[in-house]
Amino acid sequence: MVSISFQSSTFLTPKYSARHGSLRVTASRNSFDVVVVGGGIIGLTIARQFLTGSDLSVAVVDKAIPCSGATGAGQGYIWMTHKKPGTDIWDLALRSHQLWHDLAQTLSLQGLDPQELLGWKNTGSLLVGRTSQECVALKQKVHDLSQAGLTTAYLSSPHLFLKEPALLVHDHTGAAFLPHDSQLDAHRAVAFIEKGNREFAIQGRYAEFYHEPATGLIRSDGRSKEVAGVQTLKRTLYGKKATIVATGCWSESLMHELLKDCNISVDVPVKPRKGHLLVVENFDSFYLNHGIMEAGYVDHQSASADEEERMLSISMTATMDTRGNLVLGSSREFVGFDTEADESIIRCIWERAAEFFPKLQDISLEDFIRNRKVRVGLRPYMPDGKPVIGSVPGLQNLYLAAGHEGGGLSMALGTAEMIVDMVLGKPSQIDSSAFGVKGRC
Ligand SMILES: Cc1cc2nc3c(=O)[nH]c(=O)nc-3n(C[C@H](O)[C@H](O)[C@H](O)COP(=O)(O)OP(=O)(O)OC[C@H]3O[C@@H](n4cnc5c(N)ncnc54)[C@H](O)[C@@H]3O)c2cc1C
Repeated sequence: MVSISFQSSTFLTPKYSARHGSLRVTASRNSFDVVVVGGGIIGLTIARQFLTGSDLSVAVVDKAIPCSGATGAGQGYIWMTHKKPGTDIWDLALRSHQLWHDLAQTLSLQGLDPQELLGWKNTGSLLVGRTSQECVALKQKVHDLSQAGLTTAYLSSPHLFLKEPALLVHDHTGAAFLPHDSQLDAHRAVAFIEKGNREFAIQGRYAEFYHEPATGLIRSDGRSKEVAGVQTLKRTLYGKKATIVATGCWSESLMHELLKDCNISVDVPVKPRKGHLLVVENFDSFYLNHGIMEAGYVDHQSASADEEERMLSISMTATMDTRGNLVLGSSREFVGFDTEADESIIRCIWERAAEFFPKLQDISLEDFIRNRKVRVGLRPYMPDGKPVIGSVPGLQNLYLAAGHEGGGLSMALGTAEMIVDMVLGKPSQIDSSAFGVKGRC
């Protein structure tokens, strides 16, 4: 992992030097057009969009480093299969899907390799049902997705078996298949976006302040409604045009902290929803041709948070990354900000996957433990199932972009485009009204 540190002095002179294989960036300016708080996939892609789509300068502040939040645990589905046409997030998901594909294609056209740079794979997706009831629902889904303009097909068991021989298929197995769904590797995609953003540092348009939590808001004349930036643990950072809070599941507490002297109450009802993901390295027992998910994932994702209830659920997801690692998911539960890996959940994820891929049962526990890595992340869950993207009422120049739950990787580019258009006063590519702060926070 690249580690970055900044030193403060009086004017901006970004410097890069390779030291012990790590990148050291020195930036000394404290005034930018935009300050983005939170360097997960949402914050970093917002920074990228400002840098590539305007001439504004951007600072990214993070209390730790990118991938230390939910982003680092993400499996990387860039999928439409499990989304529902007509819902509030449909257009955002579709737009983002398109933007990711455009990015991968642009890289290819430039002679670069999206697989290497983003961990990008055009695998297509299979949403698998194993009961006749689930298969009926999947046929309806295929119909709805196709009415919405997507290329899709229902695969009955013989066709499914041909497409994905490692999958256990019986008479009542079927799948919704979307050939244009894709996947990326969250860590590679983040590294690519960071690298691209840093190219603007040399022009004085970009800086990162990692390991530096934001602790307060700066207002124009000390008390006005105009937000002028943030206070971090180490410095004051001015954002002349906008300050954007993109701190995932920490957005509720951070907004309370930031607004404590403002006489404004914004209660972002985002909750941490813990998820485990299992990465089995050096995996050679079988190969997966597609990204795969069990049909029950859709309910598992949308189940609501009952106050005080853990609501543990596990649903099979399986991908193979560009390095040939098998990536298995995933769990969902409400246990506050705890990020300890839980062996019993890891075992359940493994056993659930083995119901779909019987060859996993042949792998000894020792081999499995030796070759596995566990990723844990806190999805930013919003009770109404959609992110909050918009300006904060009662204050000028303050925006929120958080609450993407299990879809932040796939919805990142559309979210970034939306919020940047808002700040620049440009018409939105898609209707943003469903994501507003007012009435929801
Ligand atoms: C197991 C798992 C699998 C997933 N799979 C997928 C998938 O396949 N496809 C998909 O689209 N999505 C997936 N997701 C969801 C996706 O990872 C999230 O929706 C997304 O990462 C959220 O991004 P974010 O930037 O909002 O939050 P985060 O990545 O959590 O980033 C928030 C950042 O804010 C910083 N921060 C917090 N407080 C402060 C402060 N006071 N000052 C400064 N910085 C602060 C944190 O350090 C953190 O870096 C998955 C998530 C999990 C857990």
